Amino acid sequence: MQNAMALEQRLETAWNDDTAVLDGVKTIADGPLRAAATRIDRGDYPIEIMGALGRTGALGAHLDRHGGRAGLAIAAMQEASRACGTTGFLMWAHDVCGLYLEHSGNPALTGAVLDRHARGETFGGTALSNPMKSLAGIEPILLRATKVRGGYTVTGSLPWVSHIRQGQYCGAMAGVFDGDGNLSHEILFMLRCDPPVELKQCPTFSGMEGSSTFGIRLKDYFVGEDVLVADPARQFIARIKAIFILLQCGMATGIVQGSIDSMWEVEATLGHVNRFLDERPDELQGEFDELGARIMKLAETPYDGSRDYLIDVLDARAHGAELALRASQSALLHQGARGYLMSSAPQRRIREAQFVAIVTPAIKHLRYEIARLSKEEQPQ
Ligand SMILES: Cc1cc2nc3c(=O)[nH]c(=O)nc-3n(C[C@H](O)[C@H](O)[C@H](O)COP(=O)(O)OP(=O)(O)OC[C@H]3O[C@@H](n4cnc5c(N)ncnc54)[C@H](O)[C@@H]3O)c2cc1C
Repeated sequence: MQNAMALEQRLETAWNDDTAVLDGVKTIADGPLRAAATRIDRGDYPIEIMGALGRTGALGAHLDRHGGRAGLAIAAMQEASRACGTTGFLMWAHDVCGLYLEHSGNPALTGAVLDRHARGETFGGTALSNPMKSLAGIEPILLRATKVRGGYTVTGSLPWVSHIRQGQYCGAMAGVFDGDGNLSHEILFMLRCDPPVELKQCPTFSGMEGSSTFGIRLKDYFVGEDVLVADPARQFIARIKAIFILLQCGMATGIVQGSIDSMWEVEATLGHVNRFLDERPDELQGEFDELGARIMKLAETPYDGSRDYLIDVLDARAHGAELALRASQSALLHQGARGYLMSSAPQRRIREAQFVAIVTPAIKHLRYEIARLSKEEQPQ
C-alpha cells in the first residue's frame, strides 16, 4: 500500500515536470516506437506503447487537473509522430476523449474513469468527425437519438472510428429528433464499444492501419445519464473546438520534423545532387520553427473563445497539414530509391501526411470554415 502511494507520488511529481514528461516521450519515441513504426503502419495496434506514453504523463498534460498544458501535449504528440504518425494520431484521439470526460462535469465520468484514462490504463477515442462536419453545415448528422425515460435511445452508423475495440470507448454525438422528425438539439455521450454495439471491420486503408479503426453500428442503443457528457452539446463543442483542432497540430509538426530528419540522413552522401532540389531541409526547418512557435503561442490560451483566435487555430492547422504534405514529399525526393522502399520512413510519412490532410477537419473543411468565419466578420 505504502509502495503504491509512493509510486503515485513519484508519478505525480514527474507529471508536473514538463522536461521529465518530454524526456519520457522521447525515450519511447526513439526506442520501441521507432522500432515498431513499420509494424504499426501495417496493422499492429500499439496499445502497450500508448500505455507507456500514458505513464509519462503525456496523455494527461492538456487536462485542467494537470495544469492545462496544451503546449506540452502538442510537443509530446510531435515527438511521437516524428517516429510514427499513427501513434501521434492515437494520442490525439485519446487526448480529446480525455477532454470530453473532464469537461462533462458528470461525476460518473470525471473521477476514477478520467484518472485511469489520463494515465493510459484504459483507452478511448473520438467519433466526432461527422458531428463536427454536421455542425459546420457540411453533412447531416448520422446518429439519431430519441428521448426516452432516464435517457435516450440512439440508432445509426459511423463509418470510421479509431482507437477503439471491445472494452474501450469513444465520445460520440447524436442528433435528438422529435416525433415529427425535427432536430431539436444534440447530445454528446461516452459510448462503450461492447455488445450490443456492433464494430465493423473497415476496408484496408493506405495508411493508419494500426489505428484500430472500425465502423460502429447502433440500434436503439440506450444512453443513460451516467454516460452523458453534454446535453445539449452545441455550447460544449463551441468551448472545446479550438483545442480539439489545435492539438492535431502535433501530428502535422511531428511528420514535418521526421521528414527533415530523413533529408539530413542522406545529406553527406547525396547533398551534392540534392542541393538542386526545392524545399531543402534548412528552408523547411525555418518554416517549421515559425509555425511551431505560432502553435505554442496559440496553445497558451486554448479556451480563448474569440472568432479571431479560432480563425488563427484553423489557419495554423491547415498550414501544418500543407507543410506535412510538402515536407514528406520532399523527404522522398531527397532519399530517392531508399526512401521508396516499403520499409522506409519517407514513403510511410507521405501516407501519414495525406491522412493529416483528410482527417476531420480536412484541409478543405478548414478552408471552408475560415472563409465562413471571415465573411461573418466583414461589416454589412
Ligand atoms: C484511417 C481513418 C481513421 C479515421 N478515424 C476517425 C475517428 O477516429 N473518428 C472519426 O470521427 N472519424 C474518423 N475518420 C473519418 C475522417 O475524420 C474523415 O471524416 C473522413 O476521412 C472523411 O473526410 P471528408 O470530410 O474529407 O469527407 P469526404 O471524403 O468529402 O466524404 C463525404 C462523406 O462521405 C463519406 N464517405 C466517403 N467515402 C466513403 C466510403 N468509402 N465509405 C463510407 N463513407 C464514405 C465520408 O464519411 C463523409 O461523411 C477516419 C478516417 C480514416 C480514413
